Amino acid sequence: MTADTAPILNRFFSGFAAGRRPLLLLDYDGTLAPFHVDRFQAVPWPGARELLQQIQDQQVTRMVVVTGRPGSEIGSLLGLREPIEIWGLHGFERLHPDGRHEREHLPDPVQRNLSAVHEQLTGDSFGGLYEAKPNAAVMHWRGLSAQQAAEVERRTRALFEPLAHGQGFRLLPFEAGLELRAGRDKSAAVDTLLSECADCGPAAYLGDDLTDEAAFRALQGRGLSVLVRPELRDTAADVWLKPPEALLDFLERWRDAVEESSLGRK
Ligand SMILES: [Mg+2]
Repeated sequence: MTADTAPILNRFFSGFAAGRRPLLLLDYDGTLAPFHVDRFQAVPWPGARELLQQIQDQQVTRMVVVTGRPGSEIGSLLGLREPIEIWGLHGFERLHPDGRHEREHLPDPVQRNLSAVHEQLTGDSFGGLYEAKPNAAVMHWRGLSAQQAAEVERRTRALFEPLAHGQGFRLLPFEAGLELRAGRDKSAAVDTLLSECADCGPAAYLGDDLTDEAAFRALQGRGLSVLVRPELRDTAADVWLKPPEALLDFLERWRDAVEESSLGRK
């Protein structure tokens, strides 16, 4: 990543053109919405929803949320008037705006191992917050003391790591947690969306977490990858934006670029 984002963004937005549908791919938590200990209270940054609504109302941009959460949680938190496409559980499930729902099928041995982990950690979550997902075992330690967090991490790793060395699972650290995941990651959403859409472009993916790096890499050479985060870190992203101000600026420029490419309101 270069330190100077302005020329990269200028070049990106100058690529908006009549007859093409820009593709806006967005992570939710930490990107569109600041973290909240109660994740059902995590609503978009002030001003972000309004800008996304304006972009949706233009009816030009193809807007898709790609999240680690179950996809069904996003619609009401995002609060847009029209349903949008959502890839949930890091690409495991796809919710189409018309209500269709697709899910990846896991091989039987992988499914059995995952069910066993769910059973164990639902009974005793080592003091962390355990989340049993259809494609993953997720341990959270956000909000715990450093000492408690270290203990939860140690015990979780002891359980997850042997499985991650076998077939069909990957170990994915994220901020304040650890995930043992089966199947696809966020790159599947990027690859699929780009392959389906002949008139799409330019494309951008905005994300904050380590799990977004797979999507950043998938977009390389085909679009703009944007790290949205209070602090910079090692990343495959092309540019870094500090939320909320730089994120809101980006969405405003997006809206204006659509408008100026004379594709805007019909
Ligand atoms: Mg995130």
